[in-house]
Amino acid sequence: MGGAPVETTRVGIVGAGPAGLLLSHLLHLSGIDSVVLDARTREEIEATHRAGILEPGAVAALVDGGVSDRVLRDGDRHDGIVLRFDGEDHRIDLKALTGRSVWLYPQQDVFADLADRRAADGGDVRFGATVTEVLEPDSRRPGVRFVDADGAARELRCDLLVGADGSRSACRRALPTEESRLLFHEYPYAWFGIIAQAPRSTDELVYTESEHGFALVSQRNATHQRHYFQCDPATDATDWDDERIWAELQRRVAGPDGFALREGPIVERSVLRFRSLVVEPVRHGRMLLVGDAAHTVPPTGAKGLNLAFADVQVLHDVVGRWLRTGDDDVLNDYRHRAGERVWRAQHFSSWMSAMLHARPGEEPFERRRRLAELRMVAESEHGRAFLAEGYTGWDTPPVAGP
Ligand SMILES: Cc1cc2nc3c(=O)[nH]c(=O)nc-3n(C[C@H](O)[C@H](O)[C@H](O)COP(=O)(O)OP(=O)(O)OC[C@H]3O[C@@H](n4cnc5c(N)ncnc54)[C@H](O)[C@@H]3O)c2cc1C
Repeated sequence: MGGAPVETTRVGIVGAGPAGLLLSHLLHLSGIDSVVLDARTREEIEATHRAGILEPGAVAALVDGGVSDRVLRDGDRHDGIVLRFDGEDHRIDLKALTGRSVWLYPQQDVFADLADRRAADGGDVRFGATVTEVLEPDSRRPGVRFVDADGAARELRCDLLVGADGSRSACRRALPTEESRLLFHEYPYAWFGIIAQAPRSTDELVYTESEHGFALVSQRNATHQRHYFQCDPATDATDWDDERIWAELQRRVAGPDGFALREGPIVERSVLRFRSLVVEPVRHGRMLLVGDAAHTVPPTGAKGLNLAFADVQVLHDVVGRWLRTGDDDVLNDYRHRAGERVWRAQHFSSWMSAMLHARPGEEPFERRRRLAELRMVAESEHGRAFLAEGYTGWDTPPVAGP
């Protein structure tokens, strides 16, 4: 690979997901150059269905950060969520409890807004560019080797390298094993997720506990809806036809109130495993990790994309101070300030998951205990407020130092 053309930039970013693109945008606003490399094409990223719920902080990052205000026009504001158990709805009024709402706005739209903004601002974002090797992350000139969209081997050197390359991060693999720890937890259940061509069944997300297992009634837009139900992690999604999927969902949401989902053709189905991961530390020399590369959470609390945005906002601030002071120790502030929120999100996501899902072979005692917990949360104002605070997100710790 020697002899590949070498390019330079201030901040090299691996990954053009929400984390990498937002960071590149914020750096641009601060007059700091960056190059973003992503292995996938823009079309591939836009065709991947993932997150849908944005905390108010993530909406502000898009709107107040000058990316786009489309979320306010095309997204749906949700002032509450519903916990459904014993066949009855218990609404958690997020807005009344916290003064905050969340927004339903698909990750593909977040990505398109960010990619369009970077393109309009002349940003250097390269799709189809696969990073194959991380170079000297603890030197003053870290870099990566990559293969560009034409299949040519190239090298990028920078002052700071940021791994925003998702849960299978190549940058994370470049952390020295003797210095870094991967704190990992795998849950004994997964989600079977579908997108159905059907009208909305509910206006807000409905988190359902039932004797047949968990189900989440969600939405996407006027014509397509997103629903999930708990399944064994080894489930093969292709084994399930539409009829079987709808029957499973319907029996989980059924109750004395006669509620039933509005059905339609299922246009996408996949199984989503439940994992928690935190990398500590997220810095090695002049390489830092953000978003899913640094941590993953189970999807129950809808925290992944929101955490990625929160990381990036802290990192942008830290990079600005690092460049002003020239002091590499400033880079440690990133993990101190971002880490608190990461662990809150880990706790919140795993608490919601444990409360709503039956473990395989769950004993009757444990299910009754979970139902008591749900009732305590739903029927106590303090319980509802705790859930609402976590669901709408926490404030980012204030800026420290010069
Ligand atoms: C089904 C599902 C539902 C979800 N629902 C929610 C939700 O409601 N709310 C929420 O907040 N979160 C949710 N999440 C999580 C959310 O999608 C992720 O947390 C979010 O995408 C993280 O953004 P990121 O930029 O860190 O990583 P990613 O979006 O994964 O982006 C990483 C990018 O790096 C690129 N890359 C990887 N390796 C390389 C390489 N070697 N070279 C170059 N590029 C590379 C990848 O192509 C990718 O585009 C959900 C996830 C899933 C799967």
